[in-house]
Amino acid sequence: MKKLIGAHVSAAGGVENAPLNAFKIGATAFALFTKNQRQWVAKPLSDENITAFKKNCEKYNFQPGQILPHDSYLINPGHPEKTALQKSRDAFLDEMQRCEQLGLDRLNFHPGSHLNQITEEKCISIIAESINIVLEKTKGVTAVIENTAGQGTNIGYAFSQLKKIINQVEDKSRVGVCIDTCHAYSAGYNIKTKEGCKTVFREFDEVVGFSYLKGMHLNDSKKELGLKVDRHDSLGNGTLGLEVFEYIMNDERFNGIPLILETPNEERWADEIQLLKNMQK
Ligand code: ZN
Ligand code: MN
Ligand code: MN
Repeated sequence: MKKLIGAHVSAAGGVENAPLNAFKIGATAFALFTKNQRQWVAKPLSDENITAFKKNCEKYNFQPGQILPHDSYLINPGHPEKTALQKSRDAFLDEMQRCEQLGLDRLNFHPGSHLNQITEEKCISIIAESINIVLEKTKGVTAVIENTAGQGTNIGYAFSQLKKIINQVEDKSRVGVCIDTCHAYSAGYNIKTKEGCKTVFREFDEVVGFSYLKGMHLNDSKKELGLKVDRHDSLGNGTLGLEVFEYIMNDERFNGIPLILETPNEERWADEIQLLKNMQK
C-alpha cells in the first residue's frame, strides 16, 4: 500500500457526504467530524446516516484505514476538575462510539490541557486514564493522540509526552499517534529541511516508534519554529515550506496511513493533493 492522501472534508448535511467530498478532490484518504465539533451534544447517528456512509465509502473506495475521524475541539481528556473531566470523558466516549457505529478503526483527538492547575505529569496520567476508560467501553477503535503545538497549556507537544501517555495505556494495541507537521514545527521540531526531517523522525522512532503512527496531518505553518502557536497554512505558503512534504512522500514509513491536509483554503485541496502525489519519485 502506497501513500493515502486527502483532506479534512466537510460532513455538512450528514456524515455520508464526507466520502463524496473526498472523492471530488481526488483524495485516497479523508478526515471528518462525525458531529458538530463546536457543540457538546449532538443527536445520535441515524441508521440511515450509518448505512449511507458505509455505502458511499464502498462506492468511492475508502476502507476504514483510509479514514481519520477527528473529535470535538471542546473535549479535554486531561481536565484537572472532576465535573468538567467527566463531561469530557462522556463526550470522548460518544465520539469513539460513533466511530464504532460507522465501522471506523481510529479516532484522532487532542490529548488535553492542564490549565495551570496540575502538573504536566498529573495531566498525562489523567489523559491515559481517559483513554483506558473509553477503550474499555468500545471495540475495534484505536485512540489516536495528536501532537500539539504546545499552545496555552496543551499537553502533547513533545514526543516524550506522547510516549508517557502510551506507557500508561493498558491496551497498547488500540493506542496510536498522529503527527501534525505544523504542530511539530511550532513546538520546536525543525523539520524544515531533509536533514532536519531525518533527525526529528529518527527521534520520533526512538521515543514513540513508527508502529504507533496511525496518521499524519500535513500542514504548513504561519508561525516560525518553536513559537508554540497553532496556525496552519497552505502547503508552500508558510514558514515550513515544501521540503518536509517531499521527505514524507518519499519515505515508506508513511505508507498506508491517512495523510490529511488541514490547510486553510479548501479551494486548493485538489491541487495540494496533486502536488503531494507529484512529489513521489
Ligand atoms: Zn487536530
Ligand atoms: Mn492537526
Ligand atoms: Mn492545528
